Amino acid sequence: MFRNQKQLDAVEKDIALLEQSGTRYQRMSVEECIKQEPGLMAVSHKLTGGLYLPDDETGDCYLFCQQMTELAKAHGVEFMFDTQVQDVKREGTRITRVVTDKGELEADVYVVAMGSYSTKFMAGLG
Ligand SMILES: Cc1cc2nc3c(=O)[nH]c(=O)nc-3n(C[C@H](O)[C@H](O)[C@H](O)COP(=O)(O)OP(=O)(O)OC[C@H]3O[C@@H](n4cnc5c(N)ncnc54)[C@H](O)[C@@H]3O)c2cc1C
Repeated sequence: MFRNQKQLDAVEKDIALLEQSGTRYQRMSVEECIKQEPGLMAVSHKLTGGLYLPDDETGDCYLFCQQMTELAKAHGVEFMFDTQVQDVKREGTRITRVVTDKGELEADVYVVAMGSYSTKFMAGLG
């Protein structure tokens, strides 16, 4: 969905990629968007158009995560759910341990995967 002319103009770059990969697409006017998804009627005044990908699909994120977990466990990964990372300790430029509400953890390698929380959390480390 596009909400202004600037977004509508910027779609050309995306379309070039879609064409390059042979992905089917359809540019849609606001009227066509509403025909495709009548629920948009209520916000039609906020829209300028849309891009429809008829072959797009939605996966089952929950099932995907569950099965990834089982697969990782089978490879020896140990998960600690409901665990809050509270602090990261370092010596010089090296991370030495992670402090959680379930105790401290030491590892050879640390991966930060806190999504949008990552930046704020890591800011203190410079
Ligand atoms: C409304 C919405 C719709 C979206 N729709 C799509 C879509 O249709 N398709 C698509 O591909 N992407 C979509 N995205 C983007 C997608 O959700 C993210 O890109 C993806 O989830 C990022 O994964 P991640 O593992 O990096 O971070 P996240 O999924 O954000 O995971 C970070 C995790 O870190 C945990 N965490 C944070 N701080 C701490 C802490 N101190 N201690 C312990 N744990 C902590 C959080 O609880 C969270 O579970 C959407 C995002 C939003 C917000």
